Amino acid sequence: MMEVGQYLKREFGLSQRVLDIERRVTEKIAPRLRELEAVREFHQIRVLNGFRKNAIREQHFLGTTGYGYDDLGREAIDALFADVFGAEDALVRMNIVSGTHALSLCLFGVLRPGDKLVSVTGNPYDTLAGVISAEGQGSLKDFGVSYDKVPLLPDGTPDLDGIRRAITPEVKAALIQRSKGYDWRETLSVAQIGEIIRAVKEANPQTVCIVDNCYGEFTEEAEPTAVGADLMAGSLIKNPGGGLARGGAYLAGKKNYIDLAAYKLNCVGQGKEIGPTFGFNREILQGFFMAPHVTCEALKAAVFCAGVFEELGYDVCPRWDSQRGDIIQAVRFGNKEALIAFCQGIQKGAPIDSFVQPEPWDMPGYDCQVIMAAGAFTQGATTELSADAPVKPPYVAYMQGSLTYECGKTGVLVAVQNMIDQKLL
Ligand SMILES: *Cc1c(COP(=O)(O)O)cnc(C)c1O
Repeated sequence: MMEVGQYLKREFGLSQRVLDIERRVTEKIAPRLRELEAVREFHQIRVLNGFRKNAIREQHFLGTTGYGYDDLGREAIDALFADVFGAEDALVRMNIVSGTHALSLCLFGVLRPGDKLVSVTGNPYDTLAGVISAEGQGSLKDFGVSYDKVPLLPDGTPDLDGIRRAITPEVKAALIQRSKGYDWRETLSVAQIGEIIRAVKEANPQTVCIVDNCYGEFTEEAEPTAVGADLMAGSLIKNPGGGLARGGAYLAGKKNYIDLAAYKLNCVGQGKEIGPTFGFNREILQGFFMAPHVTCEALKAAVFCAGVFEELGYDVCPRWDSQRGDIIQAVRFGNKEALIAFCQGIQKGAPIDSFVQPEPWDMPGYDCQVIMAAGAFTQGATTELSADAPVKPPYVAYMQGSLTYECGKTGVLVAVQNMIDQKLL
């Protein structure tokens, strides 16, 4: 067989310098990859066991139409997610259109006029700002729900004393974001989420703890439901869809809250028991089955990316050998040209639209230009290799996903070559 390095040289135009970096980094990170694979093995067997326990069968692939009564596949999928995530119940639907939608259902399901919501891990993910406080559009604020936040401490850890002070009797729900999202800090571990939940419950045992679990699934041994989360939510075009689900999102947690959220998705009185699936159950099941594997591939690609850019002298977050609780890798480029060359290189390594050259553009809702590299089978799917960056100092690019380690690795190497070709390295 031809040596892979030689093939990359011939077909992708990689120089010997880049191949040398590849060899050094591959050797360095090998033990870390084995650790990630051990977590994967555990999850894969747990998911397999979930399929066995719920007697998943071909009948579950059949879809319903109309009201979707007695959709056996839909019911089995809810039970399977609940089982694997260690939750009482789950709501998994392709017509929950995004992670934001799923989190909105959690919030509107639990909160009532006069209640208060506190985000206890600083500002929530950008897209939730509208859900919480947009004026005149039916936000929580419009419905009389007040809001406050407890920032993280300067070192990125939760402010447990601040949280105890902020959780007063009128606080009905606390929102906890697991992933760092697009911030420069370590992701919260599930153990840290457990500490936050204990602090919240000490201050007010009635406060419902809702976890934004986007990007976190299958990266650690346990999910937040194992440490007391009442409700958590995530997107199927991130980790738990395994790269196969073409859309959808899930909620998992206590049964009464899942029922309330299902009333918001549909309407009061018509909750979990309706909702046609039109034949999508099969890919949700297949995607969930593949999810531990695909999440691990994305994690390995992220570790490789961190290893390469540390080797080249850049600041990365997290470091290649750090613990990880999500699939996002941040690299600080320090200048515009290197940032753009990186994103354009990643695009060249993607299976879809590899011939497209992404350019910075004025994306609505941002205070600066943004560049986005994505070559995905599913639009916006960040389990697939992608990178994006606000084009402003300190010029940080966020890379995430990759259905296979090899694809992510190639993307990173092409990106490095792209930077060398433009004399940026
Ligand atoms: C992606 C993400 C969301 C929102 O999910 P969308 O599907 O993009 O709406 C929320 N929180 C975090 C931490 C995320 O990573």
